Amino acid sequence: MEKVKIAIIGAGPAGIASAIEAKASKIEPVVILEKSDQICYTINKFYKPGKRVDANFKSAGIKPIGLCSFETETKENFLKRIENWTKQWNLDIRFKAEVTNITKNGEGYDIWIKDNPEIWAEFVIIAIGIFGTPRKPSYPIPSELKNKIFFEPPQQQFENKKILVVGGGNTAAEVAYSLCDNNEIYISYRRPQFFRINETNLKILNEKAKQGKIKLLLNTDIEKLEPFDDKIKVYFKNNKEDIYDYIIYCLGGSTPKRFLQKIGIQMDNKKPSLDEYFETNLPKVFLVGDIAVEKGNIMKAFNTAHIVIKRIKEKYLK
Ligand SMILES: Cc1cc2nc3c(=O)[nH]c(=O)nc-3n(C[C@H](O)[C@H](O)[C@H](O)COP(=O)(O)OP(=O)(O)OC[C@H]3O[C@@H](n4cnc5c(N)ncnc54)[C@H](O)[C@@H]3O)c2cc1C
Repeated sequence: MEKVKIAIIGAGPAGIASAIEAKASKIEPVVILEKSDQICYTINKFYKPGKRVDANFKSAGIKPIGLCSFETETKENFLKRIENWTKQWNLDIRFKAEVTNITKNGEGYDIWIKDNPEIWAEFVIIAIGIFGTPRKPSYPIPSELKNKIFFEPPQQQFENKKILVVGGGNTAAEVAYSLCDNNEIYISYRRPQFFRINETNLKILNEKAKQGKIKLLLNTDIEKLEPFDDKIKVYFKNNKEDIYDYIIYCLGGSTPKRFLQKIGIQMDNKKPSLDEYFETNLPKVFLVGDIAVEKGNIMKAFNTAHIVIKRIKEKYLK
């Protein structure tokens, strides 16, 4: 079996930053295992072309503490930046390598790729994010509606459709205004006002609402959905109802509990239980990025990578 010092699971911002920090500290060999065929799969898949990648997404004023950082820029420039880093640091990334299990073996762990133990690593850094497991509403979705409902920003284009976007965060705002020039767009949000959206998105959203391009359904909560001809009938809790062509839920991702529990990571109130350096109850197994923090963003992902590598050096490699 191939032996490495660190196996990193996931080639998103957190995984790539972890590999860079490790190589800069001369902790090698490091391998990144990525289930898709590209780096930064979440960003490639869910960000629209030309999307602004905000350096202050969800939390303002977060400062970089390690080697990886960026300024607000387009999706394309951000991805180019990351690609350049992978070349500059000569990162060993294995694509189409979905990790399905991690089991203890001596002083380290066997890493199972597609159900085969293929790599032994002394340290494991899990950087799989939360967008593989999108959050879903609590009411049932009738099976007839499955191809009209999205739980993540859709990749397809829409034209002249009536679309309900559900959610009150930055993703809901960005999805709504990216579609509003060619469609009739509504946003349903449970609260009386938006408070999780950053300044730039809020400004754009309010402008579009003023122009009548987006209708804000604040203080609304959905009770149930029903098929209606070829459309969706939405019953709101305030006794109102309306008919839409599509619904896009932007409720964020959720911790991939099943995977973490399978490998033996303890959960504390639905969140993985971690020490202040992001080490799990399994010695030498760390979490970084979105699965390790509240309200994740890219800068936090970079910063968790720095903290974890520093900890590995100080606790285990002195
Ligand atoms: C629509 C949208 C807009 C956003 N806009 C911004 C923004 O403007 N600014 C900002 O800072 N943040 C933004 N975010 C959040 C940001 O994308 C995340 O915080 C960031 O991607 C987290 O990085 P990560 O490396 O932890 O996880 P991810 O980027 O999700 O990467 C996880 C990687 O792990 C891989 N993987 C998953 N499971 C396995 C497995 N079992 N085996 C191997 N590989 C696996 C995935 O394919 C993926 O490549 C946005 C998110 C969304 C959805």
